Parts: sequence; structure tokens; C-alpha cells
Amino acid sequence: MTRTARHVNLASRPIGVPLPENFEVVEAEVPSAEDGEVVVANRFMSVDPYMRGRMNDVKSYVPPFQIGQPLEGGAVGEVIESNSAEVAVGDFVVHGLGWREMAVVPAALTQPAAQVEGVSLSANLGVLGMPGMTAYAGLLDVASFVEGDAVFVSGAAGAVGSLVGQLAKLKGASLVVGSAGSDDKVAWLTEELGFDVAFNYKAGPVAKQLFAAAPEGIDVYFDNVGGDHLQAALHALKVHGRVALCGAISMYNNTEPAPGPNNLSLAIGKRLNMRGFIVSDHVDMRADFIREVGGWLADGTIKAEETVMSGIESAGDAFIGLLTGANTGKMIVEL
Ligand code: NDP
Repeated sequence: MTRTARHVNLASRPIGVPLPENFEVVEAEVPSAEDGEVVVANRFMSVDPYMRGRMNDVKSYVPPFQIGQPLEGGAVGEVIESNSAEVAVGDFVVHGLGWREMAVVPAALTQPAAQVEGVSLSANLGVLGMPGMTAYAGLLDVASFVEGDAVFVSGAAGAVGSLVGQLAKLKGASLVVGSAGSDDKVAWLTEELGFDVAFNYKAGPVAKQLFAAAPEGIDVYFDNVGGDHLQAALHALKVHGRVALCGAISMYNNTEPAPGPNNLSLAIGKRLNMRGFIVSDHVDMRADFIREVGGWLADGTIKAEETVMSGIESAGDAFIGLLTGANTGKMIVEL
């Protein structure tokens, strides 16, 4: 009997903010697992900001998606057929062929899903997955966080940012400031996640609001946003301050290059250390990350919110929503 499932193709390249018509849901046959492969029934798929760059026809650290071809990204699901000695039917695995209900994947490209009691499997795509690891490595290694640091994180109500703030607090930050795009998100950061101060970057100039939040300055800036946030942080950073350059989401939909911060030369006099990074460079920290963050998640010390959309047909909208702030915590599609 022929087995079919739905997946999402890139129908056309977005110009600016993606539109629903850039995505097309298609039904196709799912072949059997060949030697070394498994068939996975995906339970959850991830939409992540970096995918926006792959929708442009430009060379980057990952190759561009092709028009008329399925999109790719993180997913977690159950193995329903196996032609591999390493992975068994019934195993739950994480892999890179999301944007589809079923995936045929080489077993060697799957990872066992982390399972924490009382925590959804989808955490493998968020707090216990790539975004969580980004927060952990970015704060502790790239930004060289030490106890007593005053930390500012932008995109604070998202998957990465919400963990950065909680980790900084748990590891003894003297001050944790977050920025986000709505008053509800700001309230969630201070009332639920324990941020000391949060502000709505849409309510006034970032520099002014950051100064009010941290009048004595900051030691660490975790940059998820770029643009005016980076410029404001350069003003606020103390001598020997550190910046983890993680993302620049304010620019991902730009159709023209945006001007850089107009005050980059402050980095000289302040002897700032600004370091870009890609999470996959930090696999050596994964065991510590799972142990530490998994433990805090299991005992409720860390809170991991998710915004869950339902069905493969909502994947395009979930991605558009991610870029326009519809999510609190990790944006997930349940399949
Ligand atoms: P989020 O869960 O934070 O979702 C994206 C959020 O970005 C939205 O919810 C929205 O929240 C915010 N946003 C959108 N447009 C703007 C804007 N113009 N200015 C400020 N905020 C905006 O996503 P992730 O946690 O997955 O990713 C956060 C950042 O980390 C991204 O820049 C991403 O590219 C980067 N990243 C980098 C990695 C690396 O290896 N270097 C790995 C993973 C992620 P709001 O309502 O607050 O505007």
C-alpha cells in the first residue's frame, strides 16, 4: 500500500516579511527506509529565525532553500520503520527534516530525544534543544558570564532570550534586564521569569529605556536583535564589557542593508569584547547543558513557555508569526 504524508515546499522567495503564499503544503508518497535509514512520524516541528536567511538566494553558513522543494528544520518524532541496527521502531528521535509530517532520515543523522518527566517532547526543539543550547553557550562561554555581572538580553521573551535571562539570574547576575515587543511579554518576564527589569522596545527609544533600567551600566549584552538594540547596548556597556552576537532579527526581513550602529568606536575605549557565534560550534558543552538545564526544568526552577500551532497547514503562519512576535517562548508546530 502506498503511504503518503504532507510536507511544506518553498513556493516562492519572500521579499521582506514572508507571506502565506510563499509556502505550499503538498502531499507526497513516503518511501520505505533503505539501508541505514529510518522513517519518523514527526510529532513536533520547529520554526526558527535562521530559516529566513535560507529563504533568500544567498550563500551563508547554510545553503539556501530551493523553490519547489521541501523546507527543512528541526523536528522530533517517533520512529515507525527502521532499517538500522542503531535506531529501533518506537524510539523518539530529533533530526533535521521538519516541515513534513513524515521524514525518511539516515539513522546516523538522528539523535535520541531527551525525555524529562512532565516535560513535553517538544522541549527538544526549544529549551532542551538548539535554542536552549544557544542561550547556554552564548551566555556562559561566548559572553564569559561571571557571577555579579549585570546582563541585558534582547528578544527576551523568545526561546533563546527567555532562557538567557533565567540562567543569568540562577548563576548570580547582579541585574537582569530584558527587552520585548509587548507589555504582556514584559509583564511575563518580570512576574513569571524573575527578570529584574524589562521594557517594551516599541514604547520608546531603546537607549533611553535601557539607561532607566540599568543606570550604572551593563557588563554583558546578549544580542538577539541588532540595530538600535546593539547601538543602545554599546552606550550602556561598562569598560571590559562583553557582547554575545547571537542574532540580528530586526534585520532579517530587510530588503536593503541597514546602517550599522553609529557608535561602534565606543568598543575601542571601553575595550569591549564582541564575539559572534554559531551554536553548533559548542557541542562540547551539550552534556553540561542537558544535565544543568534538564535538572532545572525537571524541578520547575526554569520555566519554558511554548506557543504551539496545530497542523502542518499552520507551519507557514507559525514562521511568519515568529518573525512578527506572535510567540512567547518557543514557537512550535504540533503535527
Ligand atoms: P524567538 O523565540 O526570540 O522569536 C523571535 C522573536 O524576535 C519574536 O518573538 C519577536 O519578539 C522578536 N522580533 C521580531 N522582530 C523584531 C525586531 N524588529 N526587533 C526586536 N525583536 C524582534 O527566536 P529564537 O529565540 O529562536 O532566536 C532569537 C535570536 O537568536 C534570533 O536572532 C536568532 O536568529 C538567533 N539564534 C542564533 C543562533 C546562533 O547559533 N547564533 C541559534 C539560534 C537562534 P518581540 O515581540 O519581542 O518583538
